[in-house]
Amino acid sequence: MKKALVTGAGGFIAHHLVRRLKKEGYWVRGVDIKYPEYSPSAADEFKILDLRHPKNCEEALSPPGSFDEVYQLAADMGGMGFIHSADCEIMRNSALVNINMIFAAATLGIKHYFFSSSVCVYRDMKPGEPEMKEEEAYPAQPDNEYGWEKLYAERMALAYGKRYDMKIRIARFQNCYGPEGTWDGGREKAPAAICRKVAQTADGGTIEVWGDGSAVRSYTYVEDMVDGVWRLMHSELEGPTNIGNPEYVTVQELVDTVIQISGKKIRVKYIPGPVGVQSRNFSNDKIYKTGWRARFKLLDGIRLTYPWIEEQVRKTAKI
Ligand code: NAD
Repeated sequence: MKKALVTGAGGFIAHHLVRRLKKEGYWVRGVDIKYPEYSPSAADEFKILDLRHPKNCEEALSPPGSFDEVYQLAADMGGMGFIHSADCEIMRNSALVNINMIFAAATLGIKHYFFSSSVCVYRDMKPGEPEMKEEEAYPAQPDNEYGWEKLYAERMALAYGKRYDMKIRIARFQNCYGPEGTWDGGREKAPAAICRKVAQTADGGTIEVWGDGSAVRSYTYVEDMVDGVWRLMHSELEGPTNIGNPEYVTVQELVDTVIQISGKKIRVKYIPGPVGVQSRNFSNDKIYKTGWRARFKLLDGIRLTYPWIEEQVRKTAKI
């Protein structure tokens, strides 16, 4: 039986990844500074450890020789509202986790290491620009500090991989959404925030949305993302690899989709707020070599996500 360590397993994507690894027959240890919020982890063992500290990274991997694969998804992370207000925390906390985890993994003999990067490593784009490939992250011009930290962590993982003969696999995720993702509290991303606002608003009411609705994004349903991680990890693809739904939509289209699924009539008022980049368009040619395809259109994914967020809103009596 293969053994995997999943870090950040109390968080959204890693929680789903643990389930997938269990389905694939793995023994899994999850590590995080918190337990998953909405349902128990499927991990065989779950340790609460702050991975900013080298000793805790060693403990996560102990005893040496225990793990065939490490999936590093721990990060101080959130949507644009968080990214634009917590530069220092993101750069310090996530960098410490990444520095200490890759060092512990390399020196304790891990041979297969996954790192969750982001398309935030790329510069902003204009609507209609041709697809960007992975190598076009350079010359580097990320739009925010979160992207710079990811770029640094990618390079560090690759440097350790070379020195210690580790197989490094790096995914650059586009926006990911789905049930059991953060939906309130300030760290939620656009799809969850819009689902929450619509769920909290009575039929005929108005929601406020940051920006003017014209920003272009791709939203990847969590099951597709986890499938991409799985395929990438078990491929021979070296270097960073984009993973994202090829269906690009405007924020306005995202909002319309959520409203459609809710069955309500809702008006939208666009207000100033931290929107982030104007446009995205990334090549998936590399991940497609693994046979990966996004199976969930935005409408399908929102159909599965909106009812879950509506239920959370109802449970916390915020309706
Ligand atoms: P998340 O915030 O739900 O999960 C991250 C987890 O890391 C959290 O549970 C958090 O408690 C944990 N963590 C933070 N600091 C820690 C520490 N010091 N020690 C141990 N654990 C710590 O985020 P997510 O959406 O599941 O993202 C997972 C990974 O994917 C992250 O690296 C993120 O940057 C990347 N990513 C996510 C998206 C997205 O749209 N969700 C997009 C691009 C990249």
